[in-house]
Amino acid sequence: MKLNIIEATENRVRFNVSGLDLSLANALRRIVISEIPTMAIDSVTFHENSSILNDEILSLRLGLMPIKTDLKTYNTMEECTCKGKGCAKCTVTLTMDMKGPGTVYSGELKTTDPEITPVHDKIPLAKITPEQSVKFEARAELGTGKRHMKWQGGLASYEQKEDGSFDFFIETFNQLELPELIDSAFNIFNQKIEDLKAGIKQ
Ligand SMILES: [Zn+2]
Repeated sequence: MKLNIIEATENRVRFNVSGLDLSLANALRRIVISEIPTMAIDSVTFHENSSILNDEILSLRLGLMPIKTDLKTYNTMEECTCKGKGCAKCTVTLTMDMKGPGTVYSGELKTTDPEITPVHDKIPLAKITPEQSVKFEARAELGTGKRHMKWQGGLASYEQKEDGSFDFFIETFNQLELPELIDSAFNIFNQKIEDLKAGIKQ
């Protein structure tokens, strides 16, 4: 197997790899887009919302907001010791309490874990006038792109060249840093092989 980096930045990489099978290339692509866990908001409790956006629309916008993810500290809710009830090991609470006038930005969210914050501070969530206010608690949890694209950690695609090699492209949406996204993809891939091996042995 031969690998050449064509282009690399902080959040994307393009490389050519030869000696790789099409099915392996596709497995890697699918893992990156649908199986790497990231944090996203999945439930919101509104105490006040007099903005022109109704609760459902504002929740949807919050859900699509990328959130910095720490895979070493957090479990998925299903795998957590709380058995899916939600605790400090599997969920993070982000709260907003803002009175108008002004723009409610993602950066105004207060979080229970300073490491788990929106990737971008300047995502406008709503605009509010002097009489309006927004107050809510949002719960972020780990999930994968398989369940909903809001948990998708990045993009991956490839093109097969005439010589049989692949030009690969991987980009992170910055919930995870690029090396961590790629590491996670290979860990998931290895785990699948280990599970298969164990299954066959049995
Ligand atoms: Zn838990």
